[in-house]
Amino acid sequence: MGERFNQILRKFNGFMIDMMLSSKRGRRLFSSLAEPYIAGHSLEQALQNVDADSKKSRLSTIDILGEAATTIERSDEYMATYIELINLVSGYNENRPTISVKPTAICAVDKTHMHSLKETPLIDRLGQLAEHSTKRDVNLTLDMEDHNWTDVSLDAAQELWRSGYENLGIVLQSRLHRTANDIKERLKDAHYDLDKSDIRVRACIGIYDEPKDVAVTTKKAAKERLVSMVDDLFNTGVYVEIATHDHRALNRIIDEIIIRKGIPKERFEFQFLKGVHNAYSIEQRLMDSGYKVRYYMPFEINDGDGIPYLQRRLTANPGMVFSAMKNMMQRRFL
Ligand SMILES: Cc1cc2nc3c(=O)[nH]c(=O)nc-3n(C[C@H](O)[C@H](O)[C@H](O)COP(=O)(O)OP(=O)(O)OC[C@H]3O[C@@H](n4cnc5c(N)ncnc54)[C@H](O)[C@@H]3O)c2cc1C
Repeated sequence: MGERFNQILRKFNGFMIDMMLSSKRGRRLFSSLAEPYIAGHSLEQALQNVDADSKKSRLSTIDILGEAATTIERSDEYMATYIELINLVSGYNENRPTISVKPTAICAVDKTHMHSLKETPLIDRLGQLAEHSTKRDVNLTLDMEDHNWTDVSLDAAQELWRSGYENLGIVLQSRLHRTANDIKERLKDAHYDLDKSDIRVRACIGIYDEPKDVAVTTKKAAKERLVSMVDDLFNTGVYVEIATHDHRALNRIIDEIIIRKGIPKERFEFQFLKGVHNAYSIEQRLMDSGYKVRYYMPFEINDGDGIPYLQRRLTANPGMVFSAMKNMMQRRFL
C-alpha cells in the first residue's frame, strides 16, 4: 500500500472513530470493533486469556489500559492494580508473563499531559514497581509514550539500572531522530552494575504522530530505521524485543541480521499486539524456527480506560472501514 494512501486511510479512520465516539450507538460499534485488541475487562479475564495463549506457546506481556491519569487517586488505583498483577504473575512457574507499564498511568499528570505532578514523579512510581517486582522475580517494561515523555522515561530507567535493577525493560521508537543517539549514550557507552544482556529493549516504530523536527513522518522511513536500530541494539549487547507486524521488516531483520550474523535465539524475541491479524499469520513460522513470540495483552479495569489505546489501534487498522461497514450493513448497531 502506498504511503500517501496509508496516510489518507488513517485520517479517514480517525474521522470515523470520532464520529463513532460521539453517539451511544457509535460507541457500541467502536467497542465491537475494538474487542479483538483487548485481553479482558478485568484482571481475571486477562489472566484467563494469557493462560489460553500460553497453551498455544505464546508468551505475554500484560498491560493495564489507562493513560493520562489526571488525579493522584486514579494513578494510585493503577499502581495498586499493578502491585496485584505482579503478585499474581509471580505465581506462574512456566511462561511467566512480563508486565508493561505506561508512565501516564502510574503518574498523575498535569493539564498538558506532558509532565507528572510533583507528588507522583515517574522515578518514584517506577522505582516502587521495580522494587516490588524484583522481590517477586517479575520483569517490567516501561512503555514509551510520545516524545514529551522520552527523556523522563529513559532517565528513570537509567537511574534504576544504575541502582542495579535488572528487571526493567524500556521501549525505543525508530521514528524519533534522537533514538540512534540514545542507543549510543544510554546503552552502548553507558556502564551499569549489571550485565548488558539483562537489559531488555523493545524496538518498535512508535505509534504516536510526531512533528517532523523530532521524527520521520512516513512509516517507510521509520521501518528502514527499525531494521538498522535492531542491528545497533544487538551491537550493544542488550536483549532485543522486536515489535513489528510488518512481514517485510521482520524478514529483513531475520535474514540480514539474525541469520547472517548468527545471533543466538536467547538474545531476542518477537512481540506483537493482541488482535493484529498480521501477527497470527506469521507466528507459527517464527515458533517453528525456535524463536520466542510474545503478545501484548492489555486489559481494562474501568469502562472506557482503553479508549485512547483502542483509538490508536483502530486508526492503524487498514480493514477498519470495511469491518465497520459490514457491521452496519448487518444492522447490528442501527
Ligand atoms: C508488543 C508491542 C508493544 C508496543 N509498544 C509500543 C510503545 O511502548 N510505544 C509506542 O509508541 N508504540 C508501541 N508499539 C506500537 C508500534 O510502535 C507500532 O505502532 C505498531 O506495532 C504498528 O507498526 P508496525 O511496525 O507493525 O507497522 P504497520 O505498518 O503499522 O503494520 C504492519 C501491518 O500490520 C497490520 N496492522 C498494524 N496495526 C494494525 C492494527 N491495529 N489492526 C490491524 N492490522 C494492523 C497491517 O496489515 C499493517 O500493514 C508496540 C507494538 C508492539 C507490537
